Amino acid sequence: MIANYGYKDGSGDFFISIDTNKCMECEEKPCMEACPAGILEKFADDYNDVVVGVKEEHRKKIKYSCAECKPASGKRNLACQAACKPDAIAHTW
Ligand code: SF4
Ligand code: SF4
Repeated sequence: MIANYGYKDGSGDFFISIDTNKCMECEEKPCMEACPAGILEKFADDYNDVVVGVKEEHRKKIKYSCAECKPASGKRNLACQAACKPDAIAHTW
């Protein structure tokens, strides 16, 4: 399943999508430690699989929570994606 976290407003779509089928196979969940803003957390989903998602308090301000990884110009270095070997994390912006 692809879980989407974020929002859209007049300036664009700001969503992080996480492939939970990959997460539940990922024992170490290194993305959580890698994220400098600490916005990722693990939890048991409806099927009792342990997966990762965006913390509730960041979902409506995710554009700002992720800002330090996403300069307006220049090279992007997304620590969450770099840490995720299964390539389970996608960003819309
Ligand atoms: S590293 Fe990737 S696959 Fe592993 S828990 Fe994080 S998002 Fe899921
Ligand atoms: S882009 Fe940066 S702040 Fe946002 S989830 Fe990934 S590592 Fe965390």
